[in-house]
Amino acid sequence: MLNAFNNGVVIENPHPVAQVEIIQAPLPDKVVLPLQQRIGEQAEPCVEVGDLVLTGQLIAQTTDQFCTPIHASISGVVVAIDEQIIPHKSGLKSKCITIESDGKDEWIKDEWIGDFLHCSREILIDCVQQSGIVGLGGAGFPTHSKLDKAIDCQTLIINATECEPGIMCDDALMQYFAREVILGVEVLLRICGAQKVIIAIEDDKQEAYQSLLMFNHNERITIRQIPTKYTSGAEKLLIKTLLDIEIPADKLAIDKGIVCQNVSTAKAIFDAVVEDRPLVSRVVTVTGDAVIPNNFEVRLGASFEHIVALAKPNNQPHEVRMGGMMMGVDVASLAVPICKITNCIFVNNVKPKPSVQECIRCGQCNQVCPVDLLPQQLYWYAKSENTEKAMRYNLSSCIECRCCDVVCPSHIPLAEYFSFAKALHRKETQEKQKIDKARKRFEYREYRLERNKIERAEMMERKKAELKKKMAGDKIQKDKIVQAMARVKKKNDSDT
Ligand code: SF4
Ligand code: SF4
Repeated sequence: MLNAFNNGVVIENPHPVAQVEIIQAPLPDKVVLPLQQRIGEQAEPCVEVGDLVLTGQLIAQTTDQFCTPIHASISGVVVAIDEQIIPHKSGLKSKCITIESDGKDEWIKDEWIGDFLHCSREILIDCVQQSGIVGLGGAGFPTHSKLDKAIDCQTLIINATECEPGIMCDDALMQYFAREVILGVEVLLRICGAQKVIIAIEDDKQEAYQSLLMFNHNERITIRQIPTKYTSGAEKLLIKTLLDIEIPADKLAIDKGIVCQNVSTAKAIFDAVVEDRPLVSRVVTVTGDAVIPNNFEVRLGASFEHIVALAKPNNQPHEVRMGGMMMGVDVASLAVPICKITNCIFVNNVKPKPSVQECIRCGQCNQVCPVDLLPQQLYWYAKSENTEKAMRYNLSSCIECRCCDVVCPSHIPLAEYFSFAKALHRKETQEKQKIDKARKRFEYREYRLERNKIERAEMMERKKAELKKKMAGDKIQKDKIVQAMARVKKKNDSDT
């Protein structure tokens, strides 16, 4: 049975292909591997400039649990460890290791961990971590960290939906590597100990669906088709669709005994655990109206230029977007490297953007929000920077999917407003926290001074009383002595 979450939008792949394929990209002449990943601390290089490295060799390590190690994706020479522009909307530079290829692609040989069915959960999680695996659907969250928390997991969900229209890399991967995907899911099942696994796949991916069915002989694994509708791949919406369970904004899926993993991550886990191959390549979709769309398996760290050239771009000026057409980010240069989270590159001819008009209160945006927000209302509050009101209208639940943008006849970039309002609210909250902290510090200081004053006064009173008591005691003593002396004198006088 097909379930569906509320709202969302149906968007056809703008650049469909007759046959979904994976083309092996040639080895790049050099790779640039960023040490800063999506979250966590920057990894520390364990090689130096001039070192010879083999493919799969560890080149940067970390002790931060939100970060993963980095491996050489080609064999060759380390020629630089310096700041390079990374594919990020900030356009900023970050520390990277650059390796120049020796053209041999010689792999490092490591100890194979053996049959995963006989490995403990801890050994398998360690293997996932040491292989540098992160969520390959675009989130980039370190997989071992998520699996580590999956202790009371009842349901494992494998997200085999493409996160956005136009992206085909997961579809291609399932068609080409269905056996490997199923085995990767079985490794995950062993780690999580879930009672059941659901592989969720959109109903427009019949070839991939059939391929998975053919290789799945595990009765704990079910392959479920869901309607092809943007944003069905968003984790909480997918859980709602499959299990009819709502995960509140401040909770995680694991709080309800659910673990979600992307289908490409499952394949990477197969590569690591069964094939002893760390994460050094990934499948990337290159699409858009300026290229011939296709999927390429490419080494991490190869430039966007290296892979875009394979999709035969036309000679017109281009706009390049990393990630999907909806939630991706524009990149200014093709010189940036492919990272673990680069699932898609859109290359489009430069076109004039439609001009933004006033809101005509048509309410169309309210009909499509997959998390049941009121974008029109949020827009007014975001525009007037009234973040308090916007938060009362659940701005924090907005997943910035841009469904509302797509239907807006006035072409208002609503999601951009919401992203800005969220950032503003974060800043205001931080400032408020700072002021609160300063106020509390001041109040505590005042309290401390007052308390000291009272304590000092109490101490003075105590000392005064003690002195008074002592003086009274002394006086009694003195009187007694005077009386005794008088008695002695009297006795002496009477004796004489
Ligand atoms: S961007 Fe936010 S408000 Fe707009 S449809 Fe998506 S979740 Fe709803
Ligand atoms: S869709 Fe655009 S024009 Fe219509 S109500 Fe929403 S913001 Fe206003």
